[in-house]
Amino acid sequence: MQFRDLKAQYNALKPDIDNAIQSVLNSSCFISGKPVTELETALAEYVGAKHCITCANGTDALSLAVMAWGIGNGDAVFVPDFTYFASGEIVAFAGATPVFVDVCKDTYNIDAAKLEQAVLTVINEGGLTPKAVVAVDLFGLPADYEKIRTVCDKYGLLLLEDGAQGFGGRIGGKKACSFGDIATTSFFPAKPLGCYGDGGAVFTDNDEWAELIRSYAVHGKGSSKYDNIRVGVNSRLDTLQASVLSVKLKAFKEYEFEKVNDAVFKYNELFTKNGAKQKGLILPEIKDGFYSSWAQYTVQLPDNADRDAVQASLKTLGIPTMIYYIKPMHCQGAFEGTRSSTADCPVTESICRKVLSLPLDPYKTDAELSLAADSICALL
Ligand SMILES: *Cc1c(COP(=O)(O)O)cnc(C)c1O
Repeated sequence: MQFRDLKAQYNALKPDIDNAIQSVLNSSCFISGKPVTELETALAEYVGAKHCITCANGTDALSLAVMAWGIGNGDAVFVPDFTYFASGEIVAFAGATPVFVDVCKDTYNIDAAKLEQAVLTVINEGGLTPKAVVAVDLFGLPADYEKIRTVCDKYGLLLLEDGAQGFGGRIGGKKACSFGDIATTSFFPAKPLGCYGDGGAVFTDNDEWAELIRSYAVHGKGSSKYDNIRVGVNSRLDTLQASVLSVKLKAFKEYEFEKVNDAVFKYNELFTKNGAKQKGLILPEIKDGFYSSWAQYTVQLPDNADRDAVQASLKTLGIPTMIYYIKPMHCQGAFEGTRSSTADCPVTESICRKVLSLPLDPYKTDAELSLAADSICALL
Protein backbone atom coordinates (compact mmCIF):
# COMPACT_ATOMS: atom_id res chain seq x y z
CA MET A 1 0.00 0.00 0.00
CA GLN A 2 1.00 3.62 -0.51
CA PHE A 3 1.60 5.98 2.41
CA ARG A 4 -0.55 8.57 0.64
CA ASP A 5 -2.07 7.18 -2.53
CA LEU A 6 -1.89 9.94 -5.14
CA LYS A 7 -2.39 7.42 -7.94
CA ALA A 8 -5.75 6.30 -6.55
CA GLN A 9 -6.78 9.94 -6.44
CA TYR A 10 -5.65 10.53 -10.02
CA ASN A 11 -7.54 7.45 -11.21
CA ALA A 12 -10.69 8.76 -9.55
CA LEU A 13 -10.35 12.25 -11.05
CA LYS A 14 -8.58 11.40 -14.32
CA PRO A 15 -11.08 12.70 -16.91
CA ASP A 16 -11.48 16.07 -15.18
CA ILE A 17 -7.78 16.51 -14.47
CA ASP A 18 -6.78 15.53 -18.00
CA ASN A 19 -9.34 18.00 -19.39
CA ALA A 20 -8.15 20.77 -17.12
CA ILE A 21 -4.51 20.24 -18.12
CA GLN A 22 -5.42 19.97 -21.81
CA SER A 23 -7.30 23.25 -21.74
CA VAL A 24 -4.24 25.04 -20.35
CA LEU A 25 -2.11 23.45 -23.06
CA ASN A 26 -4.64 24.58 -25.68
CA SER A 27 -4.60 28.12 -24.34
CA SER A 28 -0.78 28.16 -24.13
CA CYS A 29 -1.18 30.57 -21.22
CA PHE A 30 1.11 29.07 -18.61
CA ILE A 31 1.60 31.91 -16.13
CA SER A 32 -1.35 33.67 -14.47
CA GLY A 33 -4.64 33.96 -16.34
CA LYS A 34 -8.18 32.85 -15.63
CA PRO A 35 -7.52 29.44 -13.97
CA VAL A 36 -5.35 31.20 -11.37
CA THR A 37 -7.77 34.03 -10.56
CA GLU A 38 -10.73 31.63 -10.49
CA LEU A 39 -8.87 29.35 -8.10
CA GLU A 40 -7.98 32.27 -5.83
CA THR A 41 -11.64 33.29 -5.67
CA ALA A 42 -12.75 29.72 -4.91
CA LEU A 43 -10.09 29.25 -2.23
CA ALA A 44 -10.88 32.55 -0.51
CA GLU A 45 -14.55 31.70 -0.49
CA TYR A 46 -13.99 28.20 0.88
CA VAL A 47 -11.67 29.36 3.64
CA GLY A 48 -13.70 32.45 4.49
CA ALA A 49 -10.96 35.00 3.87
CA LYS A 50 -11.28 38.24 1.93
CA HIS A 51 -8.09 37.76 -0.10
CA CYS A 52 -6.23 34.75 -1.47
CA ILE A 53 -2.90 35.23 -3.21
CA THR A 54 -1.44 32.07 -4.72
CA CYS A 55 2.33 31.65 -4.91
CA ALA A 56 5.05 29.14 -5.72
CA ASN A 57 5.02 27.03 -2.54
CA GLY A 58 4.05 27.00 1.13
CA THR A 59 7.45 28.22 2.27
CA ASP A 60 7.24 31.29 0.03
CA ALA A 61 3.72 31.91 1.32
CA LEU A 62 5.13 32.19 4.86
CA SER A 63 8.03 34.34 3.67
CA LEU A 64 5.68 36.71 1.83
CA ALA A 65 3.72 37.27 5.05
CA VAL A 66 6.90 38.04 6.96
CA MET A 67 7.97 40.45 4.17
CA ALA A 68 4.61 42.25 4.26
CA TRP A 69 5.01 42.75 8.01
CA GLY A 70 8.58 43.96 7.64
CA ILE A 71 9.88 41.44 10.16
CA GLY A 72 13.65 41.18 10.29
CA ASN A 73 16.79 41.77 12.32
CA GLY A 74 16.18 42.18 16.05
CA ASP A 75 12.67 40.72 15.96
CA ALA A 76 11.58 37.62 17.85
CA VAL A 77 9.01 35.31 16.24
CA PHE A 78 7.56 32.46 18.30
CA VAL A 79 7.35 29.11 16.51
CA PRO A 80 6.36 25.64 17.74
CA ASP A 81 9.35 23.37 18.38
CA PHE A 82 7.53 20.45 16.77
CA THR A 83 6.89 21.27 13.11
CA TYR A 84 8.30 21.11 9.60
CA PHE A 85 11.55 23.06 9.25
CA ALA A 86 10.05 25.78 7.00
CA SER A 87 7.89 27.20 9.85
CA GLY A 88 11.04 28.43 11.59
CA GLU A 89 13.36 28.64 8.62
CA ILE A 90 11.49 31.57 7.05
CA VAL A 91 11.91 33.56 10.27
CA ALA A 92 15.67 33.08 10.32
CA PHE A 93 15.86 33.66 6.56
CA ALA A 94 14.26 37.09 7.10
CA GLY A 95 17.02 37.87 9.62
CA ALA A 96 14.72 37.60 12.64
CA THR A 97 15.11 35.15 15.53
CA PRO A 98 12.85 32.13 15.82
CA VAL A 99 12.07 31.43 19.48
CA PHE A 100 10.89 27.85 19.78
CA VAL A 101 7.98 27.01 22.05
CA ASP A 102 6.96 23.58 23.32
CA VAL A 103 3.76 21.91 22.12
CA CYS A 104 0.85 20.09 23.78
CA LYS A 105 1.47 16.35 23.88
CA ASP A 106 -2.11 15.49 22.91
CA THR A 107 -2.67 17.90 19.98
CA TYR A 108 0.97 18.40 18.82
CA ASN A 109 0.19 22.10 18.46
CA ILE A 110 1.81 25.08 20.19
CA ASP A 111 1.12 25.31 23.95
CA ALA A 112 -0.41 28.74 24.61
CA ALA A 113 0.71 28.84 28.27
CA LYS A 114 4.29 28.13 27.25
CA LEU A 115 3.97 30.68 24.47
CA GLU A 116 3.23 33.37 27.04
CA GLN A 117 6.21 32.25 29.16
CA ALA A 118 8.47 32.45 26.12
CA VAL A 119 7.23 35.96 25.29
CA LEU A 120 7.90 37.09 28.87
CA THR A 121 11.39 35.56 28.77
CA VAL A 122 12.22 37.51 25.60
CA ILE A 123 10.85 40.73 27.11
CA ASN A 124 12.86 40.23 30.33
CA GLU A 125 16.06 39.42 28.42
CA GLY A 126 15.80 42.64 26.41
CA GLY A 127 17.55 42.67 23.06
CA LEU A 128 14.86 41.17 20.85
CA THR A 129 11.45 42.70 20.08
CA PRO A 130 8.57 40.19 20.19
CA LYS A 131 6.74 40.64 16.88
CA ALA A 132 4.72 37.62 15.81
CA VAL A 133 3.64 34.06 16.46
CA VAL A 134 3.68 31.33 13.83
CA ALA A 135 0.94 28.89 14.84
CA VAL A 136 1.01 25.63 12.89
CA ASP A 137 -2.08 23.49 12.19
CA LEU A 138 0.00 20.35 12.53
CA PHE A 139 -1.15 17.10 10.92
CA GLY A 140 -4.36 18.85 9.81
CA LEU A 141 -5.62 19.98 13.21
CA PRO A 142 -6.13 23.72 13.80
CA ALA A 143 -4.11 25.09 16.70
CA ASP A 144 -5.94 26.43 19.77
CA TYR A 145 -6.58 29.88 18.32
CA GLU A 146 -8.76 31.16 21.14
CA LYS A 147 -5.89 30.85 23.61
CA ILE A 148 -3.18 31.86 21.13
CA ARG A 149 -5.10 34.99 20.11
CA THR A 150 -5.43 36.00 23.77
CA VAL A 151 -1.64 35.92 24.16
CA CYS A 152 -1.15 37.80 20.86
CA ASP A 153 -3.58 40.54 21.93
CA LYS A 154 -1.99 40.87 25.37
CA TYR A 155 1.52 41.42 23.97
CA GLY A 156 0.67 43.10 20.65
CA LEU A 157 1.87 40.21 18.48
CA LEU A 158 0.84 39.45 14.91
CA LEU A 159 -0.53 35.96 14.31
CA LEU A 160 0.69 34.01 11.28
CA GLU A 161 -1.19 30.75 10.73
CA ASP A 162 0.93 28.10 8.99
CA GLY A 163 -1.89 26.07 7.52
CA ALA A 164 0.34 24.08 5.15
CA GLN A 165 -1.12 20.88 6.62
CA GLY A 166 -4.32 22.39 7.91
CA PHE A 167 -6.37 23.21 4.81
CA GLY A 168 -9.94 22.01 5.30
CA GLY A 169 -9.76 21.69 9.08
CA ARG A 170 -11.99 23.89 11.24
CA ILE A 171 -13.01 24.94 14.71
CA GLY A 172 -16.79 25.05 14.91
CA GLY A 173 -17.82 26.64 11.61
CA LYS A 174 -14.60 28.61 11.12
CA LYS A 175 -12.10 27.14 8.70
CA ALA A 176 -8.34 26.75 8.92
CA CYS A 177 -6.44 29.45 7.01
CA SER A 178 -8.83 32.07 8.41
CA PHE A 179 -7.49 32.23 11.98
CA GLY A 180 -4.26 34.14 11.47
CA ASP A 181 -3.92 37.84 10.69
CA ILE A 182 -2.29 36.25 7.69
CA ALA A 183 -2.60 32.52 6.99
CA THR A 184 -0.77 30.35 4.50
CA THR A 185 -1.06 26.93 2.97
CA SER A 186 0.95 24.59 0.76
CA PHE A 187 -0.17 22.58 -2.26
CA PHE A 188 2.78 20.18 -2.13
CA PRO A 189 1.36 16.93 -3.57
CA ALA A 190 1.08 15.11 -0.24
CA LYS A 191 -0.74 17.90 1.63
CA PRO A 192 -4.52 17.70 2.22
CA LEU A 193 -5.06 19.74 -0.97
CA GLY A 194 -2.11 19.04 -3.24
CA CYS A 195 -1.20 19.91 -6.80
CA TYR A 196 1.20 18.14 -9.20
CA GLY A 197 4.30 20.02 -8.20
CA ASP A 198 4.90 22.95 -5.87
CA GLY A 199 2.29 25.54 -4.97
CA GLY A 200 1.11 27.68 -2.09
CA ALA A 201 -1.29 30.41 -1.06
CA VAL A 202 -1.60 33.31 1.36
CA PHE A 203 -4.91 34.37 2.94
CA THR A 204 -5.81 37.59 4.72
CA ASP A 205 -8.72 39.97 5.33
CA ASN A 206 -6.34 42.96 5.32
CA ASP A 207 -6.40 44.94 2.05
CA GLU A 208 -3.05 46.63 2.60
CA TRP A 209 -1.17 43.40 3.35
CA ALA A 210 -2.85 41.64 0.42
CA GLU A 211 -1.65 44.34 -1.94
CA LEU A 212 1.87 44.23 -0.49
CA ILE A 213 2.00 40.44 -0.86
CA ARG A 214 0.84 40.61 -4.49
CA SER A 215 3.63 43.09 -5.09
CA TYR A 216 6.37 41.16 -3.25
CA ALA A 217 5.40 37.97 -5.09
CA VAL A 218 6.00 39.62 -8.50
CA HIS A 219 9.35 41.42 -8.14
CA GLY A 220 7.94 44.21 -6.00
CA LYS A 221 5.71 45.37 -8.83
CA GLY A 222 3.90 48.70 -8.71
CA SER A 223 1.38 49.49 -11.42
CA SER A 224 2.88 46.76 -13.62
CA LYS A 225 5.53 44.07 -13.64
CA TYR A 226 7.96 46.57 -15.19
CA ASP A 227 7.32 49.23 -12.58
CA ASN A 228 9.24 47.94 -9.55
CA ILE A 229 8.68 49.92 -6.37
CA ARG A 230 10.26 47.52 -3.88
CA VAL A 231 12.59 44.54 -3.93
CA GLY A 232 10.60 41.34 -4.00
CA VAL A 233 10.78 37.79 -5.31
CA ASN A 234 9.35 35.71 -8.14
CA SER A 235 6.75 33.46 -6.57
CA ARG A 236 3.73 32.46 -8.65
CA LEU A 237 1.48 29.45 -8.95
CA ASP A 238 1.70 27.94 -12.44
CA THR A 239 -1.52 27.96 -14.47
CA LEU A 240 -1.25 24.18 -14.92
CA GLN A 241 -1.13 23.72 -11.14
CA ALA A 242 -4.09 26.04 -10.69
CA SER A 243 -6.11 24.02 -13.18
CA VAL A 244 -5.29 20.76 -11.39
CA LEU A 245 -6.14 22.36 -8.04
CA SER A 246 -9.54 23.53 -9.19
CA VAL A 247 -10.50 19.91 -9.94
CA LYS A 248 -9.02 18.67 -6.69
CA LEU A 249 -10.66 21.41 -4.61
CA LYS A 250 -14.04 20.28 -5.91
CA ALA A 251 -13.35 16.67 -4.90
CA PHE A 252 -11.96 17.83 -1.55
CA LYS A 253 -15.13 19.77 -0.81
CA GLU A 254 -17.52 17.16 -2.16
CA TYR A 255 -16.14 13.99 -0.57
CA GLU A 256 -12.40 13.75 0.16
CA PHE A 257 -12.53 15.59 3.48
CA GLU A 258 -15.41 13.38 4.58
CA LYS A 259 -13.76 10.19 3.33
CA VAL A 260 -10.48 10.83 5.09
CA ASN A 261 -12.39 11.44 8.31
CA ASP A 262 -14.26 8.14 7.77
CA ALA A 263 -10.91 6.38 7.39
CA VAL A 264 -9.72 7.89 10.67
CA PHE A 265 -12.90 6.77 12.39
CA LYS A 266 -12.17 3.27 11.11
CA TYR A 267 -8.55 3.40 12.36
CA ASN A 268 -9.74 4.49 15.80
CA GLU A 269 -12.29 1.69 15.87
CA LEU A 270 -9.74 -0.94 14.83
CA PHE A 271 -7.18 0.22 17.38
CA THR A 272 -9.77 0.26 20.15
CA LYS A 273 -10.99 -3.23 19.21
CA ASN A 274 -7.40 -4.49 19.34
CA GLY A 275 -6.80 -3.01 22.81
CA ALA A 276 -4.16 -0.62 21.47
CA LYS A 277 -4.55 1.83 24.35
CA GLN A 278 -4.00 -0.93 26.90
CA LYS A 279 -0.79 -1.70 25.05
CA GLY A 280 0.32 1.90 25.55
CA LEU A 281 -0.35 3.21 22.05
CA ILE A 282 -1.46 6.85 22.07
CA LEU A 283 -3.95 7.70 19.32
CA PRO A 284 -4.48 11.21 17.94
CA GLU A 285 -6.95 13.18 20.02
CA ILE A 286 -9.34 15.77 18.66
CA LYS A 287 -11.04 18.09 21.14
CA ASP A 288 -14.77 18.90 20.92
CA GLY A 289 -15.57 21.37 18.18
CA PHE A 290 -12.26 20.76 16.35
CA TYR A 291 -12.14 19.09 12.92
CA SER A 292 -8.93 17.86 11.29
CA SER A 293 -8.17 17.46 7.61
CA TRP A 294 -5.79 14.65 8.61
CA ALA A 295 -2.63 15.55 6.77
CA GLN A 296 -1.23 12.78 8.98
CA TYR A 297 -2.57 10.11 11.32
CA THR A 298 0.19 10.11 13.92
CA VAL A 299 0.35 7.76 16.89
CA GLN A 300 2.83 7.64 19.77
CA LEU A 301 4.35 4.24 20.40
CA PRO A 302 4.67 3.00 24.00
CA ASP A 303 7.84 4.12 25.84
CA ASN A 304 9.35 0.65 25.69
CA ALA A 305 8.74 0.09 21.97
CA ASP A 306 11.66 0.00 19.53
CA ARG A 307 10.35 2.36 16.86
CA ASP A 308 12.96 1.44 14.25
CA ALA A 309 12.14 -2.25 14.67
CA VAL A 310 8.38 -1.62 14.47
CA GLN A 311 8.86 0.47 11.35
CA ALA A 312 11.08 -2.17 9.73
CA SER A 313 8.62 -4.99 10.51
CA LEU A 314 5.74 -2.97 9.08
CA LYS A 315 7.78 -2.30 5.97
CA THR A 316 8.29 -6.01 5.36
CA LEU A 317 4.49 -6.39 5.57
CA GLY A 318 4.13 -3.71 2.88
CA ILE A 319 2.99 -0.99 5.29
CA PRO A 320 4.86 2.28 4.82
CA THR A 321 5.18 4.64 7.79
CA MET A 322 6.95 7.94 8.34
CA ILE A 323 8.45 9.76 11.30
CA TYR A 324 7.13 13.32 11.47
CA TYR A 325 9.26 14.71 13.06
CA ILE A 326 12.43 13.08 14.23
CA LYS A 327 14.15 16.22 15.57
CA PRO A 328 12.93 19.20 17.61
CA MET A 329 13.41 22.49 15.75
CA HIS A 330 15.75 23.86 18.41
CA CYS A 331 18.05 20.84 17.89
CA GLN A 332 18.41 21.38 14.13
CA GLY A 333 22.00 21.99 13.06
CA ALA A 334 20.99 25.19 11.26
CA PHE A 335 20.34 26.85 14.63
CA GLU A 336 23.40 25.53 16.46
CA GLY A 337 25.01 28.15 18.65
CA THR A 338 22.16 30.68 18.19
CA ARG A 339 19.53 31.99 20.63
CA SER A 340 17.07 29.69 18.82
CA SER A 341 18.86 26.56 20.05
CA THR A 342 18.30 27.40 23.73
CA ALA A 343 14.59 26.46 23.90
CA ASP A 344 13.37 24.28 26.76
CA CYS A 345 10.91 21.87 25.11
CA PRO A 346 10.69 18.54 26.97
CA VAL A 347 7.35 17.54 25.39
CA THR A 348 8.72 17.93 21.87
CA GLU A 349 11.86 16.02 22.81
CA SER A 350 9.75 13.16 24.14
CA ILE A 351 7.28 12.92 21.25
CA CYS A 352 10.05 13.10 18.65
CA ARG A 353 11.21 9.75 20.04
CA LYS A 354 7.74 8.16 19.96
CA VAL A 355 5.75 9.40 16.98
CA LEU A 356 4.89 7.29 13.97
CA SER A 357 2.68 8.46 11.10
CA LEU A 358 0.55 5.78 9.45
CA PRO A 359 -0.69 5.37 5.87
CA LEU A 360 -3.77 7.51 5.29
CA ASP A 361 -5.68 9.22 2.48
CA PRO A 362 -9.31 9.47 1.36
CA TYR A 363 -8.92 6.45 -0.92
CA LYS A 364 -7.75 3.87 1.63
CA THR A 365 -9.84 0.70 1.72
CA ASP A 366 -11.03 -0.95 4.92
CA ALA A 367 -8.71 -3.86 4.12
CA GLU A 368 -5.68 -1.55 3.99
CA LEU A 369 -6.62 0.21 7.22
CA SER A 370 -7.21 -3.15 8.95
CA LEU A 371 -3.87 -4.51 7.77
CA ALA A 372 -2.04 -1.46 9.12
CA ALA A 373 -3.88 -1.28 12.45
CA ASP A 374 -3.86 -5.04 13.13
CA SER A 375 -0.18 -5.37 12.25
CA ILE A 376 0.86 -2.53 14.56
CA CYS A 377 -1.13 -3.97 17.44
CA ALA A 378 0.33 -7.43 16.85
CA LEU A 379 3.85 -5.95 17.02
CA LEU A 380 3.32 -4.17 20.37
C1 LIG B 1 4.91 21.50 3.91
C2 LIG B 1 5.00 22.53 4.96
C3 LIG B 1 5.52 23.82 4.72
C4 LIG B 1 6.17 24.19 3.43
O1 LIG B 1 5.42 24.01 2.29
P1 LIG B 1 6.16 23.82 0.88
O2 LIG B 1 5.05 23.95 -0.10
O3 LIG B 1 6.79 22.47 0.87
O4 LIG B 1 7.18 24.90 0.74
C5 LIG B 1 5.49 24.73 5.74
N1 LIG B 1 5.00 24.42 6.95
C6 LIG B 1 4.52 23.20 7.24
C7 LIG B 1 3.99 22.93 8.59
C8 LIG B 1 4.52 22.21 6.26
O5 LIG B 1 4.07 20.99 6.55
